[in-house]
Amino acid sequence: MSREDSSYEVIIIGGGPAGLTAGLYTSRTRLNSLLIERGLIGGQIANAEWVENYPGFPEGISGFDLGELMHQQATKYGLKTLIAEATGIELQEGQKIVKTTEGNFTAKAVIIASGSERRKLGIPGEDEFTGKGVSYCATCDAAFFREQPVAVVGGGDAAITEALHLAKFASKVTVIHRRNQLRASRILQEKAFSEPKINFLWDTIPEKIEGEDIVKRIGLHQVKTGENLALEIGGIFVSIGLKPDTDFLKGTLTLDDTGHVITNEKMETEVPGILAAGDIRHNSARQAIAAAGDGATAAIYAEKFLTDF
Ligand code: NAP
Repeated sequence: MSREDSSYEVIIIGGGPAGLTAGLYTSRTRLNSLLIERGLIGGQIANAEWVENYPGFPEGISGFDLGELMHQQATKYGLKTLIAEATGIELQEGQKIVKTTEGNFTAKAVIIASGSERRKLGIPGEDEFTGKGVSYCATCDAAFFREQPVAVVGGGDAAITEALHLAKFASKVTVIHRRNQLRASRILQEKAFSEPKINFLWDTIPEKIEGEDIVKRIGLHQVKTGENLALEIGGIFVSIGLKPDTDFLKGTLTLDDTGHVITNEKMETEVPGILAAGDIRHNSARQAIAAAGDGATAAIYAEKFLTDF
């Protein structure tokens, strides 16, 4: 990207459903728009094996394909994409300077749609064995665990979706959940309870991960009985939710106590010309379709801001 390409009307940070939809809308209104994504286009949805609740796809669609299609559609209308990590936003005489690992870019309006990243357990052995039996993505890694016993930690939609996917490969899938009731939707619970390869360890908290070159076992604590136990396992899939990716916004925007960005219903933040959309927002519904809706709203009010600029 040359120096002449460093100035835009709108910069969108994040290439998930929120950012891609915002980019589609701003590009279609002929605003010179740049989308900055540090990893995979599609964001979290790109890791979803199959998405059944995005309207318009009655048979479902792979998350990766959904992200790709959204990107193609926005690019068709002129959205430019830069693969880089945003590291901060500075305000300068009405302009916003977006700092990235590939240099600085200026814009009159910025839409933050940087989503969230996987939460870690924070227990001994987790970092050491990441990539050596500890994984955060069953869609990516399930095939490495054919005919082996694996564990999934978590009780939400993501954990149960991962467990169902793993059941196609592993010899046995143990879901380890800290309570005695799943958070996942009823339909996913029904599927998991009727899958013979999936069993559940309730009221159980992982305490340590052990192995040699690769994972061998997970040490667990049963909160109701106080008992400590070890499960011999080939792989551990950690799926305990997401945390917002907002460290780079500290000092620019006020965040809520969980690190999410506070917006009004127009997706506007406290700083004129900085909007936020998707999972990054305080109280977002954390669904791809809701994120896409936020992205459209943010783009519409970004355009209005630029008209009045
Ligand atoms: P989530 O809904 O926040 O669930 C996180 C799970 O991890 C909860 O069961 C939670 O336990 C558990 N947990 C959190 N911290 C833990 C810790 N330190 N140790 C052990 N367990 C811990 O997150 P998610 O499942 O990743 O889903 C994120 C969003 O994406 C949700 O809105 C979800 O609906 C959506 N999603 C949808 C689909 C789908 O519709 N097919 C698929 C994937 C994700 P508690 O229950 O005790 O809090």
